[in-house]
Amino acid sequence: MTISEKVAYLKGLSEGLAIDTEKSKEGKLIKEIIGILEEIGYSIEDLEDTTAELGEEIDAVSDDLSDVEEILFEDDDDEDEDDDYFTVECPTCGKELIVDEDALAEGVIQCPGCADTFALDLSDEDEDEEDGE
Ligand SMILES: [Zn+2]
Repeated sequence: MTISEKVAYLKGLSEGLAIDTEKSKEGKLIKEIIGILEEIGYSIEDLEDTTAELGEEIDAVSDDLSDVEEILFEDDDDEDEDDDYFTVECPTCGKELIVDEDALAEGVIQCPGCADTFALDLSDEDEDEEDGE
């Protein structure tokens, strides 16, 4: 039973009692009270409807946000991958080689051009300081 249904029941009850709402002061009071209860009931039903609609809209926004987060995280992964490798020149044939994480971990790389395997010498590139003069 909703509040409005309970108020409607109360209203029917008071009408069944044949309360004098014109001459009796108590009767007028009861009529006013039931009228106010009716308005409160309608207001609460409106609020419940609005709350339910807001809940659905928040769910929709939440779903959209998840989609946006997915796209953003995908982009981040792509950027990380792009930044994760660098290239070295093959000392045998001069071909540019991509040093990936695996080659970096092993410390050696095989040139796909001349099949020559050589050790990665990373210290030279990073510590080449030209402050002699
Ligand atoms: Zn080579």
